[in-house]
Amino acid sequence: RKRAIYPDKVVDTLCPFCGVGCQTRVYVKDDEIVQVDGRNGPANENRLCVKGRFGFDYVRHPQRLTKPLIRRDDAPKDGAMMLNPANPWEVFREASWEEALDHAALGLSKTINSRGGSALAGFGSAKGSNEEAYLFQKLVRQGFGTNNVDHCTRLCHASSVAALMEGVGSGAVSAPFNAADEADCMIVIGARPAQNHPVAATYFKQAAKRGATLIVMDPRGQNLMRHAKYGLQFKPGTDVAMLNAMIHTIIEENLYDEQYIQANVEGFEALKEKVKDFSPEAMAAVCGIEADTLRSVAREYATSPRSIIFWGMGVSQHVHGTDNARCLIALALITGQVGRPGTGLHPLRGQNNVQGASDAGLIPMVFPDYKSVEDADIRAKYEDAWGRTLDPARGLTVVEIMDAIHEGKISAMYIMGENPAMSDPDQIHAREALAKLDHLVVQDIFLTETAWHADVVLPASAHAEKTGTFTNTNRQVQLGRPALDLPGEARQDWELIVEIARRIGLDWNYADVGEVYTEMASMMPSLDHISWERLLREECVTYPATSDDGPGTEILFARGFPTKSGKGKIVPADLLPPDEVPDDTYPLVLTTGRLLEHWHTGAMTRRSAMLSAIEPEAIAVMNPHEIRKQDLRAGEPVTVTTRRGSITALLREDREVADGMVFVPFCFVEAPANRLTNPQLDPFGKIPEFKFCAVRVDQLKAE
Ligand code: SF4
Repeated sequence: RKRAIYPDKVVDTLCPFCGVGCQTRVYVKDDEIVQVDGRNGPANENRLCVKGRFGFDYVRHPQRLTKPLIRRDDAPKDGAMMLNPANPWEVFREASWEEALDHAALGLSKTINSRGGSALAGFGSAKGSNEEAYLFQKLVRQGFGTNNVDHCTRLCHASSVAALMEGVGSGAVSAPFNAADEADCMIVIGARPAQNHPVAATYFKQAAKRGATLIVMDPRGQNLMRHAKYGLQFKPGTDVAMLNAMIHTIIEENLYDEQYIQANVEGFEALKEKVKDFSPEAMAAVCGIEADTLRSVAREYATSPRSIIFWGMGVSQHVHGTDNARCLIALALITGQVGRPGTGLHPLRGQNNVQGASDAGLIPMVFPDYKSVEDADIRAKYEDAWGRTLDPARGLTVVEIMDAIHEGKISAMYIMGENPAMSDPDQIHAREALAKLDHLVVQDIFLTETAWHADVVLPASAHAEKTGTFTNTNRQVQLGRPALDLPGEARQDWELIVEIARRIGLDWNYADVGEVYTEMASMMPSLDHISWERLLREECVTYPATSDDGPGTEILFARGFPTKSGKGKIVPADLLPPDEVPDDTYPLVLTTGRLLEHWHTGAMTRRSAMLSAIEPEAIAVMNPHEIRKQDLRAGEPVTVTTRRGSITALLREDREVADGMVFVPFCFVEAPANRLTNPQLDPFGKIPEFKFCAVRVDQLKAE
């Protein structure tokens, strides 16, 4: 029997976790969340997954930061003391806000004055609001004088965005995931929506039940394959072989849309030439999928009246991630499967606001709305608005910033809401970089693994405590409202950015979040017709909107593409090997990712009692057949080792993981997957190869 709840208040807001952007109704009693329900938002229609429904108690976890902290003079910066997160007092002392903010700003100012802006960098957060992202990149550009500002988009869909910008002139999705409702054929590739975008997965399952053809392509099996007509468990790292074989089939069998190509596409002849050598018969052995199956899925996609492609980080997190995405764009362009209801290209965005944070300019190459920092006319507009000369060169990306610290080029950082000590590849290298900084300011809600390296820690606001806008994977700009008061002395993130800005000499004055939004929107044509007042009234508007009260544009590219020529551009891709392939010493392939119950580096969900009860301990996952072959025992600890380091985790057996592979989730601090991963980058998106490196697994011997 359901227990009756008599809440003190009920607040309509948003889920803090994934890019689906579910609207929630939060019930609060005695300043604690006691229940979360789904609302009838456009992305979730009352649905929620286990994280959104039960993962709320992290907000009131006893480890919440409630006072500013300053590092003790004699405390080591290498993070060695972080073994006891409940007792940080040997490393930090409490400070007043005045002292902490002065100390934080002084270290940044000293570096600006002594070494120039290029010696500083900032990581913003895809978990924060659009307004926080806008202010943060403005602080780095206007205040520090550099474009060294990035965030976790670099680790998820940077290669997809590079390919989309090049191919169709826009890095956002062309259609919402709910377009599955109208699709006749859906490809889901390199994504595990039932774990990572669970509410979106319900739309894909419903469409399959209605009769749409679902094609799931993933080196790991997954439960969405049970709903699919085709489940292609291809060999990891061979996406280009498989996709070019499909393109080869479509061209060879004249299944392409000649009229659409003539009117809307350039680069088709070069593609034809490139895929000549990629026949399904030749590629079957490369990708591990039979030629007949490759031909069948190509025909289904090309000849269905309305086909749509969804993809995730299995596509993007490779040294050839941009090439993988180029193949998907080529598939859509040669078949005209874009620009109509039920068709399109949809990279499923990970974090709740990774789309918005990218749109707001938290990227080293571009100002808000993806306007190049190297374009003198664009720069002049921002120089006028911000009253200073701006850095004309692209900034460094996430992994490049860590390398630059090791090289002595960067010595001060401001990190807001990101946890690179857990999320960056080659963790030991990343943590050594953080420890090398002369000055590190971390703003967060917990003493994260990154915060242990900080000189100053600023206690900030959780999602449930803030007002702000968040843009989901569907390009829906939604309003989040505060349900809880801030704990202790914690402050709003946007206010802290303003405090730092003022202390380094900027004349910033914002009365509230609405004023920040209004300034941001004035610099971003994509937000035309979406005023703060409209968001307060309507809560959710899809961008781009064409009038002050009409609905936003759900389907892009109905009339050409926002490229210079107005046409979509095909860039043919070659099959390139992963950076590091298995050998006798490291005979298996490591892939990393998320679990349904845990979100990213686990800072929030591992502090949620319900979610931690379901997935409490670090695991490495292998196929039972491979476990026997390697003479290992499931249910017992193993060491997982790559050229960069080693972790210990419990070995779990799962038939979904292919022979020859090991899967390690990256949320467990006691067995950090990123101690193992390869930092080698895709040359275009600068994204690391999280989805492939050589690895060895050994049974842990009893002492
Ligand atoms: Fe939250 Fe994503 Fe789950 Fe929706 S699907 S409840 S946004 S985690």
